[in-house]
Amino acid sequence: MNTAQRTQTETNPFVELFEAQKRKSVELRAGSIADRKTKLKKIKRWVTAHTDKIIEALYNDFKKPEVEVLLSEVQPVVAAARHAISNLHRWVRPKRVPTPLPLFGSSSSIYVEPKGVCLIIAPWNYPFNLMLLPLIEAIAAGNTAILKPSEMTPHTAQLLEDMMDELFLEDEVKVIQGEVHTSQQLLALPFDHIFFTGSPAVGKIVMEAAAKNLTSVTLELGGKSPVIVDETAHIKDAAEKLVWGKFMNCGQTCIAPDYVFVHNNVFEAFQEELKKAIQREYYKDEQVNKEDYARIVNNSHFKRVTGLLEDVIETGGNISFGGTASASDNLIEPTLITQAAESSRIMQEEIFGPLLPLVKYSRLSEVIEAIGKRPKPLALYIFSRSAKNKKQIIKQVPAGGVCVNESVLHFTNHDLPFGGVNNSGIGKSHGYYGFLAFSNEKAVLKQRVGLTSIKFFYPPYSNIISKLTRFVAKYL
Ligand code: NAD
Repeated sequence: MNTAQRTQTETNPFVELFEAQKRKSVELRAGSIADRKTKLKKIKRWVTAHTDKIIEALYNDFKKPEVEVLLSEVQPVVAAARHAISNLHRWVRPKRVPTPLPLFGSSSSIYVEPKGVCLIIAPWNYPFNLMLLPLIEAIAAGNTAILKPSEMTPHTAQLLEDMMDELFLEDEVKVIQGEVHTSQQLLALPFDHIFFTGSPAVGKIVMEAAAKNLTSVTLELGGKSPVIVDETAHIKDAAEKLVWGKFMNCGQTCIAPDYVFVHNNVFEAFQEELKKAIQREYYKDEQVNKEDYARIVNNSHFKRVTGLLEDVIETGGNISFGGTASASDNLIEPTLITQAAESSRIMQEEIFGPLLPLVKYSRLSEVIEAIGKRPKPLALYIFSRSAKNKKQIIKQVPAGGVCVNESVLHFTNHDLPFGGVNNSGIGKSHGYYGFLAFSNEKAVLKQRVGLTSIKFFYPPYSNIISKLTRFVAKYL
């Protein structure tokens, strides 16, 4: 740490912990791959042995149903740990790359080394998964980590703290709980990498803080992820898949379908299928089946989402299904919206709740143009049986990830990079891509003793050297 950084962090309560992790990270740099795998196995074992505690914590935080916890918090973590354990020996292997002719005699490789001490800041919406996935990647890459869970899901935050205290010494992995001020104190430290998952607004604050120390960042952000249902789509299949992807976790998913463009020819039929699918998946005796439906995380988010709904009505939109909300239980019904004004808040802000606006379209080019006017989305969903339309949309619409005739499941394939573009994120995570985010790719050129091609070009620069250099500059 230099003098300026020291002065800046003098009063920071986390300096000592940070320094301890810094020392440990130097030790880990020389550590073995077997040691990293042992840590990953410990995480995997803990998760499978304490699944009931995870289910309980998430129920206490926002009444998340057991099956959703198993599918979206437990399974992805176990699968990510398993994937890293079985692939790590390949990921760490130095990779030979071609050597150009002017460097004849030498060889070139890329070595990966740990970045050092990492900060992982997680959101509340998948509070277990979104803390553990980056931690697995950080450990696989050989780092130490300080973890800052969201204060909005206190039961899961406490569980994470207990888990890490049980599995690791604090100079390797430590959870720090706290609110925005705590987060800002941590962000002032000169970490070697910061992995942030949360909103684009806070992502900018994180990146600004990181810039002060020239710390590298991975920003997993959010935004409005569009859906296109074209005139060739299988509408029942599309409706079923969209309803699950949208209303799981009560719509509080970064890659949740945010709004849907539906072709004129299938609009009414698709809307009817959506209503049937919502009733089939989330209703019992004509009421929302509370056991299978999570709640809005807290009262302030409840007010934010119901505020979006009020604004829809005030700006001339229409609620075509659902729309009721109960503040005492933070419950908002799965809701379909039509004719929302383009300028309404629901069409401008990330919804992050169980409201789904449907927008009619007649030409695909209109849709591509409309999405192109917005910040680049984290996810894009296409429901179509037309090869031409699918190809055109994938080619012309920028997005972090795409699902064709599916929703949200691209997140679960650890061989695919996960992340956004610009406003929806910077950098990629999951599997090898997450491992790389927490690693420095070190370029290594090895030369033989007594040999170097550049010797021909050492000064003094004669006419022959000058001619030879012109040839090399032009042709090699
Ligand atoms: P958030 O940005 O409000 O908070 C995320 C974390 O940042 C929390 O730990 C919080 O304590 C901390 N934080 C909040 N304000 C801060 C500040 N001013 N300075 C420093 N730290 C601060 O996000 P959220 O409400 O917890 O989560 C919802 C957002 O996260 C949505 O936009 C969603 O799309 C996004 N998200 C993205 C992904 C992804 O993988 N790309 C996954 C889940 C959620």
